Amino acid sequence: MTTAAEVLAERICQNAAKRSGKRKDPEKIQVSLTDPIAPLRRDKFKVYRPLYSIQYLVDPVSHLIVSYGCEASPAESGTLAPMIDKTQKITGVRLKTVLADGGYCSILDLHDAQERNVELIAPPSASGTSRRSKSLSGEDQIPREEFTFDAPANSYTCPAGKRLAYKDREKMVRQGGRHLYHFRYQCDASHCQTCPMRSRCLGGNGPRMIKRMKGEELLEVQRLKISQDDAKELYRLRGQSVERSFGDGKGNRGVDRFHGRGLARARTETGLLTLAQYLLRRDNLQQNAANP
Ligand code: SF4
Repeated sequence: MTTAAEVLAERICQNAAKRSGKRKDPEKIQVSLTDPIAPLRRDKFKVYRPLYSIQYLVDPVSHLIVSYGCEASPAESGTLAPMIDKTQKITGVRLKTVLADGGYCSILDLHDAQERNVELIAPPSASGTSRRSKSLSGEDQIPREEFTFDAPANSYTCPAGKRLAYKDREKMVRQGGRHLYHFRYQCDASHCQTCPMRSRCLGGNGPRMIKRMKGEELLEVQRLKISQDDAKELYRLRGQSVERSFGDGKGNRGVDRFHGRGLARARTETGLLTLAQYLLRRDNLQQNAANP
């Protein structure tokens, strides 16, 4: 069994390996003494507690929960591929299309779906690099969407027509020990200093920098795909199937609050609740078939 001291030591080590700008004050790294594996975060009711994430894979026609997952993590990122693999193993059927929410549509998720030849219908998760920052004038900074990426030249062009050359790359650690690179592009300081747009473009004293994730073109293709009418139509099925199962689990069966501690206990409890939901739904289908 992993103790809180071991988890704390590991998190302090991981924090120390980060770039100085991303590093947390080690004094502020916290671990739950009773449930050290689960990360401590605020839930949607603003209660600070150890959090697990639960995934359901639901058949959109019968509304039966085909498989489930439970991870000691506050987010869904990185859980899509194990769910696809598990469902295919349980059912013996290859999944062609999966509908999911934005939490399951990161670059790594899209890459995993592509590798498995599964079509993922989900809105891409918001990129951390597209967050609006304040400019020197106090207004929102000119967004990166107004900068044009030139793939062959591996550079960006800013709204003033200046080139942001490739500077370096930054390794970002993701769920499950995976990682992703952020490529950084920077404008020449001499251009930014004399630019008439500098007060709206720059956020500090240095020249403007733009970040781009490795594989970001997958998100661009996905954004285009999800904006098509046929994808929107298909995506509506998600709200009618998995959201109903989650609503039932949370509203009627308390799946959002476990009665024990530790991942093994959380997984067992999720499994039992999922089985109950599955049997109730199957009974419902049988009754409807016998008495249409
Ligand atoms: S401040 Fe620099 S990056 Fe921004 S528009 Fe002007 S030249 Fe381009």
